[in-house]
Amino acid sequence: MAENGKINELEQAQLDFISTVSHELRTPLTSIRGFADTLLTSYDRLSVEQREKFLHIIKDQSNRLIHLVENLLTVSKVQSDKELIIYKSVDVIPLIEASVQMVKNQYKTHKYITNYAKNLPKILVDTDKFQQIMINLIDNASKYSEEGSSVYITAGQNFETNTLFISVKDEGIGINEEDITKIFNKFSRVDSPLTRKIQGNGLGLYITKTLAEKMNGKISVTSSNKGSEFVVEFSAATPEDDAKKNIKE
Ligand code: ADP
Repeated sequence: MAENGKINELEQAQLDFISTVSHELRTPLTSIRGFADTLLTSYDRLSVEQREKFLHIIKDQSNRLIHLVENLLTVSKVQSDKELIIYKSVDVIPLIEASVQMVKNQYKTHKYITNYAKNLPKILVDTDKFQQIMINLIDNASKYSEEGSSVYITAGQNFETNTLFISVKDEGIGINEEDITKIFNKFSRVDSPLTRKIQGNGLGLYITKTLAEKMNGKISVTSSNKGSEFVVEFSAATPEDDAKKNIKE
């Protein structure tokens, strides 16, 4: 607390964080307790379908909690200066392919169209963290678009800036101009009838941006009512980078 008895900005941010996390935890917990209660007290009066429906809600809400706790742990790790980044000079194509495969398992009807420029340079990144960035972007592109639509993943080289870029483009609901600057903030979700129907906690893009910037990369977004495009960019690895493969920061 500041000397004049008022709370300072950092303390206010911590209080806001605790209040948001508590709210995010309370919603699924209340729903789990409510449906478990109903099952316990009225089991015999419920039809088999109703019992099954309630058990599915309990399972979905538990998954939502697990996802939130995992994201919170990642947030606390990415915010810490002590987090270990294990740099490697890597070819991005197999990492992108593996990320697409992981997301594809959850969105069976979406089409994933990849396009890689020839002779892409390697980049110096932490492979796990790079994959997490890819998975978050491809997952969002799928989550915020209709079943059966296409997600385009393109990797290319910008010769002027000597960077490698990866674009993840969707045909989804798009993001308004006034929301576009906020979506990278912690717990920030666009408040619209369309997004309210889709589950999320507003931490993915914060984690994605923080990870990209920690590895000296950049992330940008453009959007219209036809869909959104997120682009991440990293410097091409130099031959010296290639030589020092396991540098710890
Ligand atoms: P969430 O868990 O809510 O998906 P994110 O941090 O990944 O959290 O994204 C923040 C918000 O940005 C989302 O709630 C959504 O409103 C918007 N958003 C992110 N990606 C897209 C996308 N590809 N298309 C439309 N909106 C998106």
